[in-house]
Amino acid sequence: MKLYFASGNAHKAAELQRLADGGEGGAGWIEIVSAHAVGGMPPVVEDTGTFVGNARKKAQALKSKLRAEDWALADDSGLCVDALGGAPGVESAYYAGPQGDGAANLQKLQRVMAGIPAGERGAHFFCVLLLIGPDERELVFEGLCAGRLLEAPSGGAGFGYDPLFVPEGFEQSFAALGDAAKAKLSHRARAWKKLATGLRELV
Ligand code: IMP
Repeated sequence: MKLYFASGNAHKAAELQRLADGGEGGAGWIEIVSAHAVGGMPPVVEDTGTFVGNARKKAQALKSKLRAEDWALADDSGLCVDALGGAPGVESAYYAGPQGDGAANLQKLQRVMAGIPAGERGAHFFCVLLLIGPDERELVFEGLCAGRLLEAPSGGAGFGYDPLFVPEGFEQSFAALGDAAKAKLSHRARAWKKLATGLRELV
């Protein structure tokens, strides 16, 4: 079955396609279709203040371009840092400014966290995957990945804050562990597993 992905983020799309192709909860029966296939993702202002609210806005915007029987999928996600009271959280994409520059966001987080002791560097990634289908039916799935932040970025895989984030039980960052580890452990992988199970029961 096809899920039309309400995003212009190629990294997220690639991760979701890998999950659909056989990662946790996958089995190759779901195809992630880019919003480009239906003329591109309409602009959306992510101003609801919640992951679910922002995901709903994105999914609704794309759903308005689809046929009644089609499903729109949105991902809203972010990094919540304990020492920062949960920031950048839902604002993760725009932490260093409205231009949404991933490298600048990473640099800002490294700077803000400089000198914070090891025991106070806890953080978690959070992901909401939200589907809107026929009859405006809405399904919501959440995934969380707990861990801690390094002092300096490390590793070349992944995107966003991956070079600073070490998942619980590991010593290396997501960016150093690579795509296969992320497909097992990440917030997105955990939400995806629930989505795949939920959809299989439904269709
Ligand atoms: P949004 O969901 O489009 O609002 O943006 C999510 C933002 O959270 C991204 O731009 C990244 O900064 C961050 N983020 C979400 N998921 C991940 C991830 O898997 N790795 C690293 N950064 C992530």
